[in-house]
Amino acid sequence: MLGAGYLILGVFFSIAGCQGSYPEGFAFKDAYPKIKSCTDFTRTLHADRYRRKETRNAEEIFTNVTSGGRQRRDTGEEDLHIVPYLPGIKGQALQLAPSVVIPAINLTIDLWVKAEGGQHPGASILDLFDTCHPSQKNGWRIGIASHEPGKATFFFSIRTDRNPHTTVISAPHEYQPQQWTHLTATFDGTVASLYVDGVLVKADRGQRGPLFSDITRECKVVRLGDKVQRDDALFRGSVDGVRIWNSLLTKSEICSLKEHRGAILDPLVDGNLADADIWVGVNQNDAIKWHFRRAAKPDVDAIVIPKCGETICDNPDVVHRYSNNWKLKQPKTVKYIIVNVADDDGSNPVLTESQITLQDIDLKRAFKPYNITWLLEVTNVNSSFIRTKTILAGCPVALLGNGVCDPECDHPVTHSDAGDCGGIRAECQWLDVENGICDPQCNNQMNDWDGGDCCFGPSDNVSEPCLDPASEFRAYLMLDDLRRMLGLTNTEAVVVHLAEWSIGGSIGFATFPWDNDAFTERGGVVVKPSVFGRQGATGTLIHELGHALGLWHVHHGVTEMECNDPCLETEPSMLLGDMCSDTNPTNEHTTCGNPTDENSPCAVPSIAPTPYKNFMSYAGDDCYEEFSPQQAARMHCHLDHLLTGWLHGSSSAVPSIQIFPPQVMQAGTDSVHIHWQQSLNHRHIRGPSPCGHCIEDDVLVQYAYSAQMKYPVVPHSIEVWIPWLSEGILHDLQLFWSNGESKSLGSLPVQCHSPLTVTLLEEVRLLTKVRLLSKTSLISVDSLAVTSKSQVKICQTCTNVEYLVHRSPAFGDGTRETVVPVTSFTDTDVQPGVRYEYSITTKAGTKVAEFPSPALVYQHGQSFCGDGTTDSDEDCDDGNLRGGDGCDQACRLEAGYRCSGSPAMCYIPANDAQCENVELSIFSCDCGHFTPDGYMDQWPVSVEDITDPACPLHSLLGAPNHEQLCLMCGDPRLSGAASDLAWMACADPYTLPLYYNSDTSNWLEVTFSRPVVPTAIIMYAVSSRAPSNSFWSDKDWVTISLLSHNRTILSTQKLRVNITCDQAPIVSDVAVNPNEGFHHAIGLLLKVPTPDIAIVAIGLRSHLYFDPITHSTCGLDGVYNPYSGTCLRSTCGSPVCEPLFLKYATVNCTGYNHGDVCRVQCFAGYEYESGLDWSWDLKSPVCIEGVWTGVPRCVPVDCGVPVVPHAEPFCDNGHTLGSRCKLECISPAKKTGPPLTIECKPDGMWSFPDSYCLVRCKNSPPVKNATLTDRLCAYGEHNIGKRCDSQCLPGYHVVGQGHGDRANSLECTEEGTWRGPSCVPVQCPPLSAALIGLYSCTNGRNAGSFCTIKCPKPSTTVTKLECLTSGQWSRDPGTCVFSTEPCPTLLNTRELLFNCPNPSPVGSTCSVQCVSYDRIPVLSAALNQDTQGGDSRERIDLVTCISSQQWFPAVADIQCLDRCQEEFTSDGYCDAVNNHAHCQWDGGDCCPSTVDGGVVRPFPSQCTHECTCVDPTAEENRRRNRVRRHHGADHVRPLRNV
Ligand SMILES: [Zn+2]
Repeated sequence: MLGAGYLILGVFFSIAGCQGSYPEGFAFKDAYPKIKSCTDFTRTLHADRYRRKETRNAEEIFTNVTSGGRQRRDTGEEDLHIVPYLPGIKGQALQLAPSVVIPAINLTIDLWVKAEGGQHPGASILDLFDTCHPSQKNGWRIGIASHEPGKATFFFSIRTDRNPHTTVISAPHEYQPQQWTHLTATFDGTVASLYVDGVLVKADRGQRGPLFSDITRECKVVRLGDKVQRDDALFRGSVDGVRIWNSLLTKSEICSLKEHRGAILDPLVDGNLADADIWVGVNQNDAIKWHFRRAAKPDVDAIVIPKCGETICDNPDVVHRYSNNWKLKQPKTVKYIIVNVADDDGSNPVLTESQITLQDIDLKRAFKPYNITWLLEVTNVNSSFIRTKTILAGCPVALLGNGVCDPECDHPVTHSDAGDCGGIRAECQWLDVENGICDPQCNNQMNDWDGGDCCFGPSDNVSEPCLDPASEFRAYLMLDDLRRMLGLTNTEAVVVHLAEWSIGGSIGFATFPWDNDAFTERGGVVVKPSVFGRQGATGTLIHELGHALGLWHVHHGVTEMECNDPCLETEPSMLLGDMCSDTNPTNEHTTCGNPTDENSPCAVPSIAPTPYKNFMSYAGDDCYEEFSPQQAARMHCHLDHLLTGWLHGSSSAVPSIQIFPPQVMQAGTDSVHIHWQQSLNHRHIRGPSPCGHCIEDDVLVQYAYSAQMKYPVVPHSIEVWIPWLSEGILHDLQLFWSNGESKSLGSLPVQCHSPLTVTLLEEVRLLTKVRLLSKTSLISVDSLAVTSKSQVKICQTCTNVEYLVHRSPAFGDGTRETVVPVTSFTDTDVQPGVRYEYSITTKAGTKVAEFPSPALVYQHGQSFCGDGTTDSDEDCDDGNLRGGDGCDQACRLEAGYRCSGSPAMCYIPANDAQCENVELSIFSCDCGHFTPDGYMDQWPVSVEDITDPACPLHSLLGAPNHEQLCLMCGDPRLSGAASDLAWMACADPYTLPLYYNSDTSNWLEVTFSRPVVPTAIIMYAVSSRAPSNSFWSDKDWVTISLLSHNRTILSTQKLRVNITCDQAPIVSDVAVNPNEGFHHAIGLLLKVPTPDIAIVAIGLRSHLYFDPITHSTCGLDGVYNPYSGTCLRSTCGSPVCEPLFLKYATVNCTGYNHGDVCRVQCFAGYEYESGLDWSWDLKSPVCIEGVWTGVPRCVPVDCGVPVVPHAEPFCDNGHTLGSRCKLECISPAKKTGPPLTIECKPDGMWSFPDSYCLVRCKNSPPVKNATLTDRLCAYGEHNIGKRCDSQCLPGYHVVGQGHGDRANSLECTEEGTWRGPSCVPVQCPPLSAALIGLYSCTNGRNAGSFCTIKCPKPSTTVTKLECLTSGQWSRDPGTCVFSTEPCPTLLNTRELLFNCPNPSPVGSTCSVQCVSYDRIPVLSAALNQDTQGGDSRERIDLVTCISSQQWFPAVADIQCLDRCQEEFTSDGYCDAVNNHAHCQWDGGDCCPSTVDGGVVRPFPSQCTHECTCVDPTAEENRRRNRVRRHHGADHVRPLRNV
């Protein structure tokens, strides 16, 4: 748990919060469940590495340049050029000059992006914006958004001017912070596509036609790093090489863009952002930080840590290497220390020698088959003080005897948590405390441990032990205290302690190698003395040491997971659960055999044979026999790479072995370039701290273990990892510098999966301290890392990691090896056709890894993976050795991708908007719903929401359309109660009255047109309505009952369907109950337990040509007609159908005889009429006994009510095909050309209007108390977004700014009004309160006001002074000689405390406080009755004795209010508790016009009324008050928060 301003420690890459480091059997005390999938952040370690490389290439050089004075810096290095860094600060953006003609169709956009981690959702990188209609979402946009909780991805959104809906294309994978990524977006008028790093990740057909018409082209502008909507957040990061083509590039051309290969058509916009002719500041004064582009994405991937894993030893390739290579599993000896406590003279030890010996023998025996042995060291602690005490684990002293039963402290030696867990005790009477007798009922924290009565001396009085933690005679010693006293760290050996505890059935615990505490004195193993070194009870230590070497329980994937955890192990897997596929998933159980009880928490079955004989099970000593081969591999791997310090005959400074062979990266005619993995323990081997934290390029990486930095450095970046979905909870990051200054970075979003990164480009100061402020105590922080700039002095003395490159045959000069400091080597001494073997040995100083890597065998001239030529032994070859782009570093196809060609071009087939052959037999977004041969699917013809009849349901009627089928989980279009795309329960089931057997659920009844014997129920669902923080357990199940013709529930069937986003469609088979036989069903009744479930479609599947009931009743004289599902009883020839003619349709029939079928295709501009007679065979009428059945009707398309910005439509002849509407501009908008008309087109959308409505601001913005400096602003009209500069008159300044700040700027808004701060009079400081009643001023404290102070009689002193425009008085107001008569003594009230001088002469002040610390004094007379719901009472800290010998303000006018939460003032969140005058209206956080960024974020998020903008000085309210006066209305709607 982390409170405000407090840091949790972290060592290396700790993961405290995500899972793991908790002692066994201890219940989490956290209020929220853990989300395990967050462990993925380890990926950033790789990013880390690349960044280092980049820093080596270039020093941080940057400059602030405005659009006018931008210059290219000469660096002397060719591939470096300046690119903009967008710092996420308002008003810094670029736009394309209007001379560039932006394409409306057939366009390609590409750019490089290096994004910071932790982007506010919806951050826009590049967009096409409509300056005439800024509130419209037309245009396109490339940015970062979270369409699923905690998963931020790149997206491309697009919407033509004709389309009422936006198409959003999101990349399927999270974006990688701090890594250059190549993005390409294309639109050809039909398909919009997004490519990430050259891979087509998704395409969509949601938009049609050109983006805009020639008429509105003048409104369109391409912008970099600006907001699209006012509420949007700004992007933080670097952008490079933005290019736009007015043509559609092919897939292979796009692939080449990324790899800089081949000739590409000339772009319209050339990618050079520093070109001031094309890119200009959106606002004249905008400054963009420019810095040098550094290396792009790395060419090779480091070893990938799987999502559910913790270290590289979780990578299956690494485990296989260890499993298959005896060399890697050479015998290892691990040092362990047993702490044995005895009396002062060494007698009476906890463990006897024979116990220790027995345990040691069994331990060695258990590990021997796996080439691991143990070297015992016993640390004897001779201390009677300790020996007489019971060592207790897991009980924090603060919880002992605190009045609440804490199970972790419930132990006999504590007398059941000092009585807290011990049932009823007598009440402690105060007379009993410290009466010299130990009173058990008083022996607790609340009663100060009976005042010491129970701790008089050493005693073995077990009836009432000494519990006072401060007493040396206490009966217990906390393990953590013992560990601190002994100071035994786990750096050189694993330490085993013996201690007691009580809760749970556990008998030991251990830290994992990746835990925070693994190597500190808090790490290691603890077991109970009762299970150590006793015959038949030695397995516990073996089990715990298994954990210490990195093994999970075998039941980890089944019992120790949340049910929705993606790491749940349902089949043996190296990527899930315990990460071993040779231990079958199993329930936790203690029997020596397969578990019989299958009630695992998540209904995941155990798979027999379960590994109950495994040491990592709970089966116990009688059963323990073995570790599995993969477990052995994992232990060796952890020993080699993380636990080297524990190895005997080795030391932590030995570099780890290269476990993979080097790889060929490039080959020339007479050279070959090879690459290998970085040393896996390079951080460890550079030497003792701080060298252990020095990485390449002498960069120091410090992980927080206290708020204070151990080594102050000039920071390059800061990274923060959090374990839960704590978006929005971290509300400030403060940096403290060595010169005493500090800097607040403000509110930054941080996501569980990906670290928050902050790059500090300009910083040159030394960072000494970092503070995190959280909104609530329900946040925990995994770790916080500060990375220094390169070439840190303290790193320069550290040992460098080097690599020995061995070659066979030897190099030309006869040497067999060469040393390089980096992870690649170019051999320029190679001959074609010669076969070479390369291997690598890691080296650090004089220490060399035990043996070299496996060899790379390479014949010069041969092809290799990564050469861009797909060879027969490769799945693909995309010319690089990176994974995550469809083709991995071994040239194998990655799951979910397809690649073709040479070099390989990769794409995700399900998302490319092409219905490919492979997709035809499955559902895909590209091909739509798929019905298998021989079946038919019906869709609802009527739907009823039983619990809320008003809930909109139309989205469920009929077959789902393309847009619905391609919805993603948490799609933003699903937000809001009513959606056209999916059904969501309108009511929260827990607030519903009880329906249907007292079940709190939403009920939905759907009916189909034709009764069938169903074979399956088909559902498409998008689980959650919006990214939400709700945690599901069993809430995602829908119960479905079948309904018969008369709407009764068929008892035969009741299905429980797991609603998930991952499966489309969800197909639930309907099994036939043999006792019940077949039944026709025509409807379904669905019970939906939560409004979080969103359903897109429900279908009923049955056999197409076979109805078992009709068929069985057809008998001998009937013929079963499979097309109609009916039984035909015809003796003579059946009548023939008339030829079928349909209006607005083409009809093709197989014939006119009984059973013949027609296909009906509506003309363009016509669609099938929907309605109640809609049925499965609508488009295929069948001739049955001379009559066509199921004949559809084609009707003109309906374009719907047109929505045109700033215009009102008048449609006299409806909204269907060919209808025309006249548009009239809504004032103040005016039309820009001919009268506006639109027509409903065959594609179902309205045509582009022939002109548009434009809002413009009248000339000369209202410059009250100011003069316009921008003289052009005084004439004509101005476009929305135009800014006009003005200067406040002398004696005035910009509201909210300093007295000297007179430069002002007003912006033209979409309402046609000017918005911006006003000029208010400069004010002088108030005159002393003692003078109240003695002075008069001509204009208050405003500049220019003259004041006259007349001192009271008998004095005749008169002082005249003027308030100057500088905000200072022209002279010192001085003071008067007052009567010596003091003010009356102030008496404290029930509420208020006064602190006064005694006596209190005129001019003296008393401080005022409220009796309660949580409250503050305010002046109760509300000054401004105009505020709406806001509290305008101002804080008061002093009362003054004025000349009339009265206190001012009067005590009667002072009252107490709850104290402001000052740490949350001006934090970017509107805090309800602070939205009062005496809290400065939360520092402006509650009004769009005053909050930084212009977006009010209420806190708590559901806060509505209390978070309204009520600050009377805010622009909104000033405007509102004006409106109010104007209309004389007495009710004004409160402003809506956005
Ligand atoms: Zn265990």
